[in-house]
Amino acid sequence: MFNLNALIEKCRPGLIVRDIREIDFRSLKARGINALIFDIDDTLLPRAVNDISPDLFERIATLKQEGFRLCLTSNSRHPLRVKYIGKTLGVPAISFGFKPLPFAFRRSLEILQAEPAETAMIGDQLFMDILGANLVGLYSIFVWHKIPESFAPRIWMREAENRVLSKLGFSALP
Ligand SMILES: [Mg+2]
Repeated sequence: MFNLNALIEKCRPGLIVRDIREIDFRSLKARGINALIFDIDDTLLPRAVNDISPDLFERIATLKQEGFRLCLTSNSRHPLRVKYIGKTLGVPAISFGFKPLPFAFRRSLEILQAEPAETAMIGDQLFMDILGANLVGLYSIFVWHKIPESFAPRIWMREAENRVLSKLGFSALP
């Protein structure tokens, strides 16, 4: 039988941050995380931005130097944008991911040659990035920007996310 509470529990992030710069990657390493799957839009850079900032470029280079395997996994329907960002950062990139369905996560794990238990998914959408990651058994990191949305379906989605987060006990940012 359909169990709403179980589904809500599957949306529970392992960690919540406001920005990827807040993530302590060393502590992830210490807990056995060697592979990172990043969402692109509104996680690595804003949806409307195509330019990679020097700061982001350096951050990704540092993660590689620290031995993390990286993959970008996006639901974007703009494959050229995804390809450009992946190429610029030197990281494999998947578009049309259809998260939270498991296919793109499985494909990412193949690319990364990683097991779910050693992999973290970092993304800004609770019902796509976090739910999907949890269903596949990845460590999930939610980037909770709280940036106001202007497009109605996105406003409703963020409201629904906030309701679920509040049910999970995260009514304020940590
Ligand atoms: Mg996103």
